[in-house]
Amino acid sequence: MSQGEFDLIARIRQRAAARGDVALGIGDDCALLAPPPGMQLAVTMDALNVGVHFPPDTAPADLGWKALAVNLSDLAAMGAQPAWGTLSLSLPQGDVAFVDGFFDGFFALAAQHGFALVGGDTTRGPLSIAITAHGLVEPGQALRRDGARVGDDIWVSGTLGDAAGALRQWQAGVPMSPALQARLDRPTPRVALGRALRGIASSCIDVSDGLLADLAHICRASGVGAEIDIDALPASAALRAAFGPDALRVLQAAGGDDYELCFTAPAAASDALGMALAEAGTAATRIGTISAGSGVRPTLGGVAWSAPATGWQHFA
Ligand code: ADP
Ligand code: MG
Repeated sequence: MSQGEFDLIARIRQRAAARGDVALGIGDDCALLAPPPGMQLAVTMDALNVGVHFPPDTAPADLGWKALAVNLSDLAAMGAQPAWGTLSLSLPQGDVAFVDGFFDGFFALAAQHGFALVGGDTTRGPLSIAITAHGLVEPGQALRRDGARVGDDIWVSGTLGDAAGALRQWQAGVPMSPALQARLDRPTPRVALGRALRGIASSCIDVSDGLLADLAHICRASGVGAEIDIDALPASAALRAAFGPDALRVLQAAGGDDYELCFTAPAAASDALGMALAEAGTAATRIGTISAGSGVRPTLGGVAWSAPATGWQHFA
């Protein structure tokens, strides 16, 4: 079934959950929001384009989930609590089944984080999704990229390389391992971990473009270098089962799309960090140390290691 713009918007509006601080949601020229006094707004935007960020045959529900997940991951990386957002949806046609499926995934994740969809835009065009997400964070408590200091430990949550591993399988035309595909299609934004790291982590970034590329952003912003041990990078059992050691390392170090958090913390904060990880229910692995100088210096068995590529860049 195909529907026009206003019918589609009515369908979306029907499903959008309420939130106490949304004075006016979908339906007028603007939404009206009442942020709690004294909090800072963390604002981020990420777009997903068909053929660039996802294969054309991606299930609509996975797309809805992932489009929101990548934005919530940015909020998590700043230590912000997700609050509201807007959605620009460009669709080739007013395909109701697609839209309903998309919002099944979108609202499933939104509900987990109390995130309210308060507006957006619906247009005809190549399939493309852009979301602006707003979060709340206490002034001075946001986790930034520029706070890493020489001697800090470098940590990463969860496991690395799973999403890239699934993509590699898909590109090679072999069936994707279910556990890897789940990580590619339905990444988990580490919101609770980001919140728990406030006051503990000295810097933080979410791993979207690949660990080496994203850690390099922390190094540049903080004016420091990073020594990391490639053998220390965490891998899932599913990834180990699907790839040999050389391919595994490349996927872990340079594959993107896992949406884990890479963060730094002074060694003296290790007790507080242990409690924060327990509180968030997320595992993290120490993978190296912040050093003087610049750039990321990966080693394997004490010898300098380099990946064939350092992450995904548009227009490169
Ligand atoms: P306008 O022309 O005044 O910008 P629209 O007709 O584009 O308004 O949208 C009507 C209402 O529906 C607005 O409140 C808008 O924010 C909301 N809206 C439109 N598209 C979406 C969407 N994809 N998701 C959420 N809200 C949407
Ligand atoms: Mg208007």
